[in-house]
Amino acid sequence: MPHTIRSEVLIAGGGLAGIVTALEALRAGKRVTIIDRDTPDRFGGLAFWAFGGMALVDTALQRRMNIPDSPELALQDWLSFGELDPKDEWPMRWAQYYVEHSASEVYDWLIAEGLKFMPSVNWVERGRLGEGNSVPRYHIVWGTSRELVRHLSGAMESASGQLNIYHQHRVVALDQQAGKICGALAIDESNGQEVRFESDNVVLAMGGINGSHQECKANWPAQRGMPDTMLNGAHPFSDGKLHHWAEDHLGARITHAGEMWNYAAGFPHPFPHFPGHGLSTIPCKSALWLNHRGERIGPEPLVTGFDTHWLCQQVAAQEKPWTWQLMNRRIVLKEFAVSGAEHNAHILNKQFPLFLKDVLLGNKALFNQMKNESRHFLVDDTMEGLAEKMNALTCSHDVDVNVLQATADAFDANFANGDKLNNDPQIRMIRHARQWGPDKLRTCKPAPLQKPSAGPFVAIHTQLTTRKSLGGLQTDLQSRVLGADGQAIPGLYCVGEAAGFGGGGSNGKRSLEGTFLPGCILTAKAAARSINTGS
Ligand SMILES: Cc1cc2nc3c(=O)[nH]c(=O)nc-3n(C[C@H](O)[C@H](O)[C@H](O)COP(=O)(O)OP(=O)(O)OC[C@H]3O[C@@H](n4cnc5c(N)ncnc54)[C@H](O)[C@@H]3O)c2cc1C
Repeated sequence: MPHTIRSEVLIAGGGLAGIVTALEALRAGKRVTIIDRDTPDRFGGLAFWAFGGMALVDTALQRRMNIPDSPELALQDWLSFGELDPKDEWPMRWAQYYVEHSASEVYDWLIAEGLKFMPSVNWVERGRLGEGNSVPRYHIVWGTSRELVRHLSGAMESASGQLNIYHQHRVVALDQQAGKICGALAIDESNGQEVRFESDNVVLAMGGINGSHQECKANWPAQRGMPDTMLNGAHPFSDGKLHHWAEDHLGARITHAGEMWNYAAGFPHPFPHFPGHGLSTIPCKSALWLNHRGERIGPEPLVTGFDTHWLCQQVAAQEKPWTWQLMNRRIVLKEFAVSGAEHNAHILNKQFPLFLKDVLLGNKALFNQMKNESRHFLVDDTMEGLAEKMNALTCSHDVDVNVLQATADAFDANFANGDKLNNDPQIRMIRHARQWGPDKLRTCKPAPLQKPSAGPFVAIHTQLTTRKSLGGLQTDLQSRVLGADGQAIPGLYCVGEAAGFGGGGSNGKRSLEGTFLPGCILTAKAAARSINTGS
């Protein structure tokens, strides 16, 4: 017989959404238990590894930078970019809730908690035709998302209520009595024993569905191309099993599981945490994005920062499951970045002078690290040498050096008559990006790829990397899980990525980017508010 542990709030999952729910419940004096599948050193879920970019609307920082934002404008952008269906009630309501409350419940709240943001707001996901962020909204947590986790976990540990955390325990089923959820069954994965938990309120915070490649492939929309191979930029513990359990046994509804927020330019983690682990580059705007033969993909060039979802679709439609980013050292130093806390050391360690030095003089350490650690980051002084290395990596003769040379020459011809007489769409997009100061600091002035002294040449072998599930369990604005009849299942909540960041898919098909960490905070606070007030 498994022994039983009792609390007032039971949270399945110790990611950001679970932590914030716990913090808010503890501050109301509740007895809280968190059950988390991972080891204690990885407590915090994906937020422990995330970068810390947040789409926030009408904040004090935006106002200081004279960015004229408002919830109305953000909602318009959100709905057009995400292509939300106006009849899809809960995603629509959560989208509206987000834009109206991200300033007070995320930005102001985190500052009151003692966290800081970097002093500028970036402009991401502008939309290919301007249908994305019409103003800059991307705020970056100083210290990355890992600082967020550390800080909020610390606050949670010292909050007034009583907290118990069970690491390496996996929730496998929920208990229900007289129609109300009243606990859960977990397996202690360190010894295989069953542990039973009793609670008046159970909060599902176990992350997304598509961290499992099997689920990801099964959910992939049939009408969209899927590459034969992909990397996994999430975590295999986000396997959707509890989602399915809730659907099969409680009538909960998984909605929009086919919507995902993946990245088009990933490469294998040189020190993988699990098989198939991928890192996502923030592709360089100035790099030429090539197919497996070394030809520039087009006619519309692939350029990051405008429409990530579209980039993924273009990459998925290629003949082979990889593409190349062709650039030179000058571009890498200014523009190359890897998403996540691990590869942004100066932000992680809050070393502002060193961060500024990288921005102004180039991130030489990252260039050297990639060159030394990743076999997918190829460097050579000549196009010939580079083509040889590209073919050696893919064990093919796909790249003909003459084709690669012609690709570079065709781009460089744009500069044959000086700086003002070119009409390449990528150069036009770069010029637009450079109009905004913080992006100008991160984007090279357009120049020939073969500009003397800009080398050596660099080719990065990139693959589609899966990341976030945009769909999840359908919830209402109190984060209560809705059953088949559309009514809340008594005692059951769902927060964060598990709930599709609110409503089972509040982002629709596309995110304005950085809507995930704030979505975890907003949905967690909504659940805690409902539990604490009993409403
Ligand atoms: C490298 C990287 C960079 C990112 N950068 C950003 C960014 O800049 N901005 C942004 O908004 N988002 C970013 N994200 C996404 C963001 O981090 C996640 O969407 C968010 O942290 C999800 O939080 P969560 O609490 O909902 O779920 P998770 O973080 O997935 O946490 C779920 C937890 O539940 C546990 N668990 C799973 N199943 C069970 C079970 N059955 N029983 C018990 N425990 C279970 C897991 O071990 C995990 O600890 C990034 C993600 C990654 C990987």
